[in-house]
Amino acid sequence: MIHDAGSRCTLCDRLVLGLAGHDWTALPWMIAAGSGVPPGPCHVRCLEELGCGWAWAGAVENYHRIRWPFWLGGVEGGVRWRLHGSRSARRFHLWRSDGLLISFPYASTAAHPGRIRTELAEVGTAHAAALLTAMGTDEPAIAVPLTSMTTALGVADRYPRVAGTVTRDRAGAADLVTARHRLTLTPAVVRTARRMLPSGG
Ligand SMILES: [Zn+2]
Repeated sequence: MIHDAGSRCTLCDRLVLGLAGHDWTALPWMIAAGSGVPPGPCHVRCLEELGCGWAWAGAVENYHRIRWPFWLGGVEGGVRWRLHGSRSARRFHLWRSDGLLISFPYASTAAHPGRIRTELAEVGTAHAAALLTAMGTDEPAIAVPLTSMTTALGVADRYPRVAGTVTRDRAGAADLVTARHRLTLTPAVVRTARRMLPSGG
């Protein structure tokens, strides 16, 4: 699934890459009246700066409590969290009371704890061209630090905790710009995710 190519943040009008834990698409029901947040893609950081991150996360959480009722939770450092699982979507959805939300696939927990692969763009599109220019290379299989790409794109301050790489991946017909990055999951969340996985993965 490729992120809506080249979308811009409804709050700061800068590029949204589509990285789990850093970006979100705000839907009308998630947004409190009068919060000033329009529906559409946005940076989590922009929501936090508006001071509505907490309320926004709460609305998303209420939705998942009904739709994804299979969950386990805990408290760490005064922050409450709940991890929801969906066996049909094969995804987890992490909610934290400090406003952090991360949606990630079962597979990213089973193989490499807390690591995720995200297809950012298909080579040939204007969005991919912009990413490759920011990476400084269009050669396949060269891993560029994500931070150097976000700096070149002028969005480094929107991805403050990002750790990972971005690569042009060419495999058969697929020619993609792909990010591999760490999810900001605590060990307790990773342990819980593994307990929630269906047996056999
Ligand atoms: Zn933004």
